[in-house]
Amino acid sequence: MPDTARKERHRRLWQSDHQHLWHPFTQMQDWLAEEPLIVDTAEGVYLVDTLGNRYLDGVSSLWCNVHGHRVPEIDDAIRGQLEKVAHSTLLGLASTASIECAETLAALVPRGLTRVFFSDAGATAVEIALKMAFQHHQLRGDEARTEFVALRGGYHGDTIGSVSLGGIDLFHRLFKPLLFDVHHAPQPYCYRCPLGKAYPACGTACAGDVEGIFEARRGKIAALVLEPVMQGADGMIAQPPGYLRRMRELCDRHGALLVCDEVATGFGRTGTLFAVEQEGVVPDIMTVAKGITGGYLPLAATITTERVFESFLGPYEAKRTFFHGHTYAGNPLACAAATASMRLFTERKVMEGVPGKAAALARALAPAARMPHVGEVRQRGLMVGIELVRDRETKAEYEYALRSGHQVSVEARKLGAILRPLGNVVVLMPPLAMTEAELERLAAIALAAIEKVTARI
Ligand code: PMP
Repeated sequence: MPDTARKERHRRLWQSDHQHLWHPFTQMQDWLAEEPLIVDTAEGVYLVDTLGNRYLDGVSSLWCNVHGHRVPEIDDAIRGQLEKVAHSTLLGLASTASIECAETLAALVPRGLTRVFFSDAGATAVEIALKMAFQHHQLRGDEARTEFVALRGGYHGDTIGSVSLGGIDLFHRLFKPLLFDVHHAPQPYCYRCPLGKAYPACGTACAGDVEGIFEARRGKIAALVLEPVMQGADGMIAQPPGYLRRMRELCDRHGALLVCDEVATGFGRTGTLFAVEQEGVVPDIMTVAKGITGGYLPLAATITTERVFESFLGPYEAKRTFFHGHTYAGNPLACAAATASMRLFTERKVMEGVPGKAAALARALAPAARMPHVGEVRQRGLMVGIELVRDRETKAEYEYALRSGHQVSVEARKLGAILRPLGNVVVLMPPLAMTEAELERLAAIALAAIEKVTARI
């Protein structure tokens, strides 16, 4: 396209975006004052904007892309499915694509998780987990088990049930009057320990506080819900080793269910296919979304054990049915994409490459340890948070209004990478398909952008 035509098209789209769109998690007053970057196409791990600029997709298009964009196998699977049927319902009917997808998924998740309940977003997968856990206990006659425990700093999506579980004040506090009560336990955040202790001398005292809640509410807890290994949205908060295992044992001791939200960590991000594998833990319920389709289409799943599933069985008139379902649950196009993406994990031996890539990324980020405004680099596999601080000694934070992370993202774009921060934490969450050379370039761009921004704010 000639340059003038390209610019003209870009301006028209820019104007139209500003007229019609309301962007998620975005202060629209700022948005309307700035020129948007408009993604037009993609190729592999690069996004291409309407002006023809190429950017490394440094956060996997919001943590979901896995094998890169325009992957022939996934493209073909969707095209093939389009020639069969785009959508049919799972309410009272089965479909080829959803059966194949559930079977493929069940073979990948930790052994013991066997039943797949489809929906279309991480938040819906969590809502389903909540309601399933609640109903499971009711159906078993354990009617006092109506309470949930979650972690401060947790994030499980933006619907009201998921927000009730959430523990990020900035996003969740306003809605408090609309939410149900959840016991929030201290966040396992060693860099800024909420208990003022230091790991490992603390003996993971924060886990002890969760145990305290279970003791105080003996027989009342339906489930503990958490993001295993790494809390994503609060700024990539990595849990100390052994924490998750201890939570599993705690739930077992108290007859509560453990719900692990693998929406962000699932499908290889933390170095294992699912984060729970790192602690040898099998949850009673696991939620997945984002990466399940390789980052192509909206699909989510709430996966349970046979034990949970069996609680719901009974004669029709006993009304033990799980009365919940989303219209596009198990959408065949999304399922076809998911099956193709999951098969690629096996065919391309994706997970075998991840440790080497994670090590390359860690090496490339090593200079951050000497940067005056980097407080901590937290990495698990290809999930990274770089916490910026005004002062390394005191760990003083940059003021909210400075938008330090956002400024880093703006600089990174000029250097050829798309990043999206979480407050003062610069996030890198590249597609697993990025090569070591691309990961090194991504790290170099992030560090250069951090250096530039922190020198002037
Ligand atoms: N759980 C976790 C751990 C997440 O990170 C997210 C999204 N960032 C969600 C749930 C919600 O997923 P969705 O945006 O698809 O509703």
